[in-house]
Amino acid sequence: MALSELEEAKRALDVPLFAGLSGDADVSFEFFPPKSEKMEKTLWDSVVTLEPLNPRFVSVTYGAGGTTRERTHATVARIAKETNIPAAAHLTCVDASKDEIAEVARAYWEAGVRHIVALRGDPPAEGQTFEPHPQGYASAAELVKGLTDIAPFEISVAAYPETHPEADCPQADLDNLKRKLDAGASRAITQFFFTAEAFFRFRDAAAAAGIDAELVPGILPVSNVAQTRKFAGMCGAEIPPWMNDLFEGLDDHPSARQLIAATVAAELCRKLYAGGVRQFHFYTLNRAELSYAICHLLGKRPGGGRQEKAA
Ligand SMILES: Cc1cc2nc3c(=O)[nH]c(=O)nc-3n(C[C@H](O)[C@H](O)[C@H](O)COP(=O)(O)OP(=O)(O)OC[C@H]3O[C@@H](n4cnc5c(N)ncnc54)[C@H](O)[C@@H]3O)c2cc1C
Repeated sequence: MALSELEEAKRALDVPLFAGLSGDADVSFEFFPPKSEKMEKTLWDSVVTLEPLNPRFVSVTYGAGGTTRERTHATVARIAKETNIPAAAHLTCVDASKDEIAEVARAYWEAGVRHIVALRGDPPAEGQTFEPHPQGYASAAELVKGLTDIAPFEISVAAYPETHPEADCPQADLDNLKRKLDAGASRAITQFFFTAEAFFRFRDAAAAAGIDAELVPGILPVSNVAQTRKFAGMCGAEIPPWMNDLFEGLDDHPSARQLIAATVAAELCRKLYAGGVRQFHFYTLNRAELSYAICHLLGKRPGGGRQEKAA
């Protein structure tokens, strides 16, 4: 470990933990397509709140089984048209032929969207296994290759610090990640996780597997452990027991839960930052406050970082 890293690691253990961070981290934010007018307003309020932090991109998810195709497109296209933030569209292989996917991808390109988060996707109903469409792509790696044949998209893919549940073993999952990057993706965004060690172990294993692309931690600020637990098991993420303790007795205290959510996620980000991470992807759940607060703690300020502002 270099001296500068040791100093940085020591500083992370000192109090105040968040003093003097320059705001040099790059951030991106993930949204899901709104289902109602009210949800659309919440989403747009969030985009407007987060835009001044100059995110590298914001991305919009694609509902299980392609169920949000139109809404995802409408949301991404509006972000591309009405904001200065580069917009990324999630796209999955579920229930779609290669031709249908090509059509969706071309429509994005025409709407000015240059970045796709390419995923295999999950079956629409819980408990089912993924079955590729007879004329479709069988994996995210195949989808990445298909997209590169359509247009020169910037492509991000998914990665799993605690291993995807369907993978035979961690090494097989890393081999799959490498296939996706070799097929034309330039970065991997991780599934959420709750200990910095999980990410660092994964980063080391990825490096050992010859992966040198950007690995961006996906940060989920959790304010409702019970809800998170429901989908954590399905997506290969573990919720540590201490998180249960932290939220115990707070069912009727939403504001306290929010504060704890920000504290826990900010501490995770601070540890990742101390370990050299300078890119963060926030699962916003369409709410700006938590992600905004964590970015602020990391030194991000409207128009740039703290240093740039002071200069
Ligand atoms: C950042 C992020 C964003 C997401 N956004 C969405 C979204 O918008 N919509 C949505 O529906 N889902 C989304 N997901 C969830 C994702 O679709 C699921 O996790 C899905 O089960 C796997 O998708 P993948 O792209 O990782 O698949 P793949 O990379 O294809 O991998 C799927 C599994 O198959 C294995 N595998 C693949 N190819 C091979 C092979 N040749 N040999 C052996 N094993 C293989 C992999 O190891 C893995 O276990 C997202 C996940 C992340 C991390």
